[in-house]
Amino acid sequence: MRPVSIDDSRSAATSLLITIDGPAGAGKTTVSRLLAEQLQYRYLDTGALYRSVAYSILINNIDFEDDAALTAHLKEFDLTHRADKNGFRLLWKDRDITDQIRTPEISMMASAVSAKPAVRNFLLGMQREMGNGKALVCEGRDMGTVIFPEADIKFFLDADPHVRACRRYKEMPPKTAVTLKDISRDMLQRDQNDSRRALAPLKPAGDAIRIDCTHIDPQAVVGQMMACIVSMLKNRSR
Ligand code: C5P
Repeated sequence: MRPVSIDDSRSAATSLLITIDGPAGAGKTTVSRLLAEQLQYRYLDTGALYRSVAYSILINNIDFEDDAALTAHLKEFDLTHRADKNGFRLLWKDRDITDQIRTPEISMMASAVSAKPAVRNFLLGMQREMGNGKALVCEGRDMGTVIFPEADIKFFLDADPHVRACRRYKEMPPKTAVTLKDISRDMLQRDQNDSRRALAPLKPAGDAIRIDCTHIDPQAVVGQMMACIVSMLKNRSR
């Protein structure tokens, strides 16, 4: 059987804005990349932006509980990006930090600083600018609820917490000192921080399509998403 394709819809509206939200380790990155590749869309990983802010705060030893210090730091925050075959590379003060921001320490720091209104407001404009022009798959925690509430189609990807922790553990570099238990603990902490914060908490948008990927692989998730996209386009063209 041939895979479902966006051409299956008779609609001309093929330039869509697609959001994928969900907790850590649900597989958003893999699925978003695959979906963007299949549709030949751009891909935006907004977690990487929060991670970059966290990285710069750590390197500069900024007390992010001090609002004045945080605001002053963000004013000077110099982040640029350039497209590459896997999405984009992030340059902080012209230094490529794309790979350095993937540590457990930065994950926890990103979760802590992402609750700060100054950080969220600062990144809001940047995300909307990067997402401008549709033909985009973007992933995060508040893509469908806050950043792009007008998105054409919204997904919320979730999986059993143990399965999510195991997936993250498998992504760790060989000989890592980090244990599955560490990852599980940090992940639960991040889930709590992200869903209980006052501003833009992690939650499915009212009109999001929820997909539980505990027992299905990324290709199957993308298959389900494509079927939803095609059906949405067919309904639109009626
Ligand atoms: O997706 P990722 O694990 O890279 O995100 C790191 C952290 O950034 C999350 O735990 C969350 O606190 C924050 N984040 C957010 N809103 C987004 C994307 C990420 O608050 N849209």
